[in-house]
Amino acid sequence: MPPELVIRGGTVVLPTGQRPADIAVTNGTISAIGSEVRDGAATLDAKGLVILPGVVDAHVHFNEPGRADWEGWEAGTRGAAAGGVTTVLEMPLNAHPPTTTPEAFDAKLAVASRKSLVDFGLWGGLVPENLQQLEHLNQRGVVGFKAFMSHSGIDDFARVPDGILAIGLKTTARLNAIVGVHAESQELLDRLNAERSPEPLSWCRARPPAVEVEAIRRLLVAMRGAGTAARAHVVHVSTAAGLREVNEARRRGVSITAETCPHYLAFTEEDFARIGPPLKCAPPIRDAETREALWEEVLAGRVDLIASDHSPCPAADKHKGEHDIWQAWGGVAGIQATLPVLLSDGLHARGLSLERIAHLTATAPAQLFGLYPRKGAITIGADADFAIVDPQQRWTFGSKDLQTRSGVSPYLDRQFTGKVVRTMVRGVTVFGDGEVRGEPGGGQFVKPNHAN
Ligand SMILES: [Zn+2]
Repeated sequence: MPPELVIRGGTVVLPTGQRPADIAVTNGTISAIGSEVRDGAATLDAKGLVILPGVVDAHVHFNEPGRADWEGWEAGTRGAAAGGVTTVLEMPLNAHPPTTTPEAFDAKLAVASRKSLVDFGLWGGLVPENLQQLEHLNQRGVVGFKAFMSHSGIDDFARVPDGILAIGLKTTARLNAIVGVHAESQELLDRLNAERSPEPLSWCRARPPAVEVEAIRRLLVAMRGAGTAARAHVVHVSTAAGLREVNEARRRGVSITAETCPHYLAFTEEDFARIGPPLKCAPPIRDAETREALWEEVLAGRVDLIASDHSPCPAADKHKGEHDIWQAWGGVAGIQATLPVLLSDGLHARGLSLERIAHLTATAPAQLFGLYPRKGAITIGADADFAIVDPQQRWTFGSKDLQTRSGVSPYLDRQFTGKVVRTMVRGVTVFGDGEVRGEPGGGQFVKPNHAN
């Protein structure tokens, strides 16, 4: 059977390195790479373009069911398509009900299956009330369990005190499941009890790097109690100091990994002071020196993966904070920004290689969450998921480019060098020529290998 599609003339970022190669797609999977590629039913010319494995974004919040007006699966995955993201791993909050029970999981799977334009996996939640549900959620095929060490900001998703976290880690270890941890120490936040003033930097001062570092240390103590099989992934690490804790523990044999996010790599406190609420998040945006130290960690290979932590809310909940940052809801709409930031600020500005970008955004998350080799790399037999980029194209992120429902993003008017020009999910174009072309319901649910 001839392939349904052949992509000719692109520079392909393979696990073994980048090289010019043709790719054949048959039944939505990669059937041949390189000289053995025959003519197909359709041909795509990729001359001058780079073909990356589609981004596996391990950390997004679409908030549906329950808070679809905050984003929803359709708007969220339109952004995914436009950003070169072919698989999203979606968080248990701020959907309502949160994904902490099998019933809530089923409700989310139903709506996501109807509306998602790209493939998706689902995180479960780990909260004090649902320790009995973890096994059932695991059987449903969650990619992991998200837990908060600080207040989540939403009443229906309670934080876990250290003792409960230790019990949860022990339970998930038995299930061979991973716990994704929001590591900010509520105890230290309470002890600091910082004075609040209305300007953005007051938010940063109240949540200094020490809050992140202390939480990671507490997490490591909880892991010790849970035994050597416990696995944790620290989400959205914002400082090199936090990463040092993770890497020192790993050297001692602890199963711990860490991600950072494009907004910690793209912005500084000065930007936050200027942009305000669209850039409010927790942990907060850091100063320029801390950002450069974080880049050093990325360049040195000491960050496991990069995920967007795309977390929008209604525009009104951001506008509330225009005169008092404490009134704004926290969360950055960044699902479209991961590749542009890594191409502009990484590849061009700091020499981060395309191979490393592919690893950080696709291979590593697919491996960590059990989706590899179906997802995460351009190899024969894998799904034909591609982010096709023009690495030299200069462009400005305008409101016509932005897909998020609220229309609010700190990246508006930012200039980039490097643009996603086409996104393909299992051989189907979901974004091309500046337009989202995928259909709601086109995305498939993916489970980690251990749950199949
Ligand atoms: Zn998040």
